[in-house]
Amino acid sequence: SIVVTGATGHLGRHVVEQLLEKVPADQVTAVVRTPEKAADFAERGVKIVVADYNSPETFDSAFAAGDKVLLISGNEFDKGRVEQHKVVIEAAKAAGVALLAYTSAPGTLTAALADDHHGTEEALLASGLPYTLLRNGWYNENYTEQLAPVLEHSAVVNAAGDGRVSSASRADYAAAAVAVLTGEGHENQTYELGGDEAWGFAEYAAELSRQTGKEIAHNNVPGEVLIGILTGAGLPEPFAAILAGVDASIEKSELVIATGDLSRLSGRPTTPISESIALALKG
Ligand code: NDP
Repeated sequence: SIVVTGATGHLGRHVVEQLLEKVPADQVTAVVRTPEKAADFAERGVKIVVADYNSPETFDSAFAAGDKVLLISGNEFDKGRVEQHKVVIEAAKAAGVALLAYTSAPGTLTAALADDHHGTEEALLASGLPYTLLRNGWYNENYTEQLAPVLEHSAVVNAAGDGRVSSASRADYAAAAVAVLTGEGHENQTYELGGDEAWGFAEYAAELSRQTGKEIAHNNVPGEVLIGILTGAGLPEPFAAILAGVDASIEKSELVIATGDLSRLSGRPTTPISESIALALKG
């Protein structure tokens, strides 16, 4: 079976949908913690396994020998994601899966956000399992799904200076994961995945201006000011600090990925940020 954890998340849904275009539904297993969210998959013949990264025993029979597994990193930043991911790695090891692919972060990324990914990569390599590291760069949607405050204030506010990002859509990263899960020869490979074109925030603001017909500025602010703005808007301080750390990394070009691995694996050009903006504006 091809098994996908985090299958009801944004990325996981794209992965399952794209798998269903390539393999019969009875060869696909979705690991989810909330089965109600996976009812549509179940209806289409996808096997559902209910398991939670916080409860190791729920993974006891999640995997079988020969499975190809995609571990999609979790989003509970305060719950020890390395330990959570180790639960999946250990269960996969015990079952004797053929491949464990993991959605990691770019090797160049030094921001605190990358720490859990480094820890998980280490655990995966130490397990001795055949692995694939899908070091995903940034999603277009990190920006295009956050347009409400940008349009309200007519400004893109961040602390990334003239930094550039090679982002791509979640669907693009999902296509790369599907290529690895359904193809051959990806054992013990590390892919640095990012969009074909890097862009900066002045350009991003200009593209938003073009598409909305409103004048939208780029306001670069110091990291501390950004943290103040984000906490003022209701974000918890630790999360605001993480985002400011990411901007600092962007300023240092750590999210420019020039390998071409993503379009090579997915077999198509990546989705330009302009296209994701257009999709978001259509609502
Ligand atoms: P989502 O937040 O949409 O999905 C996270 C998934 O993890 C969900 O399916 C969620 O389950 C599942 N999950 C979280 N905690 C647990 C748990 N304890 N047990 C079982 N499942 C759990 O994120 P995306 O799909 O957009 O992205 C996937 C991952 O990529 C993120 O979790 C994060 O690690 C990382 N990421 C990468 C970004 C990038 O730009 N490259 C940006 C943002 C995140 P449920 O559906 O039940 O909530």
